[in-house]
Amino acid sequence: MSEITKEKVLEALKAVKAPGGDVDIVSAGMVSEIVIAGKNVMFALQVDPDQAQAYEPVRKAAEEAVSALEGVDKVMVALTAEKKEGAGQPGQQRGRKPQPPTASQAPGIPGVDHIIAVASGKGGVGKSTTAINLALALASLGLKVGILDADIYGPSLPKLLGLKQEPQPDPENPEKLAALEAYGLKAMSIGFVVDEATPVIWRGPMVMSALQQMMHEISWGDLDVMVVDMPPGTGDAQLTMAQQVPLSGAIIVSTPQDLALIDARKGLNMFKRVNVPILGIVENMSYFICPNCDTRHEIFGHGGARQEAERMGVPFLGEIPLDPELRERSDTGRPIVATEPESPHAKAYREMAEAVWAKLKTGDTGKKSMPRIVVE
Ligand code: ADP
Repeated sequence: MSEITKEKVLEALKAVKAPGGDVDIVSAGMVSEIVIAGKNVMFALQVDPDQAQAYEPVRKAAEEAVSALEGVDKVMVALTAEKKEGAGQPGQQRGRKPQPPTASQAPGIPGVDHIIAVASGKGGVGKSTTAINLALALASLGLKVGILDADIYGPSLPKLLGLKQEPQPDPENPEKLAALEAYGLKAMSIGFVVDEATPVIWRGPMVMSALQQMMHEISWGDLDVMVVDMPPGTGDAQLTMAQQVPLSGAIIVSTPQDLALIDARKGLNMFKRVNVPILGIVENMSYFICPNCDTRHEIFGHGGARQEAERMGVPFLGEIPLDPELRERSDTGRPIVATEPESPHAKAYREMAEAVWAKLKTGDTGKKSMPRIVVE
């Protein structure tokens, strides 16, 4: 079978006309960087955000054109409002920066009541561990819950849930792939599609297109809550995501150290800037109970996140100790809330889930009406 190349993809895309029918989408400068991972092809079409609806047939046509190529298995094409410097873009004046919508203006996912982000200012603080256990704790309250791994640079959901299989077309809606299921959760991660061992270089628009596809082209079914495990950090990619995902709220995970707290503060401010309510702060690796001597050690200066939450005027959702057992279970696809539901950790996550759900249910997320903010 012949190997798929960027040139072949571009050639196929030249047959797809931009709206208006005069030029093709390649000549119109609409096609982003093309990422090829094995037999999977991913790219975005850069469009005027105000006319996104009108471009949907173009997106579909582009997807079909590339799907028809020999050697191609899956094609992910998304519309993005991100603009390449100097690239011609239909409907958009040169020099005018595209203005991504704030979260409240982003289109929702039909059937999904609430989307919440679990974020951290930096990696390694236990964001993914918190996201999965919080999702499971919400499910244990009798809610229908999904988890979306938006950390496309380092997807951890396949490992956390011990899932390896690829998503398959949904029998009821073959246009879409069905979300995978584990421990009663619906789940989707780029790690299910792209081989974890294959390095993929994601560029700005690709991040958004992958995320948009995972939200809108996957059958999630009816969900009370979708938990989004955000990529770590507070850079442009995270900000764009916070703007383009219709979030009901965000949870910030931090360790108690000063340094991590500074990052957590940045994360918190990022969500505040785009008018996403902060549901609370979680202190992870809060203290350590020595399994040998049963003594509590506050290695990182326990309590820092609680003080920070008070200082910032946001809820404190609880503290999770540093526990080798929790790590062992997380890293072997047996999250503690599902496999040790009676443990003190599971109880702490459940309390967190109850507090979060109480806020979501009543709509009391502290969200205030604010003017639209455009980040230059
Ligand atoms: P992040 O998403 O912030 O990068 P992870 O959730 O992937 O962080 O956690 C990083 C590592 O720390 C993983 O090996 C995980 O199992 C471990 N870990 C997370 N929280 C705890 C905890 N409370 N106790 C012990 N290990 C933890």
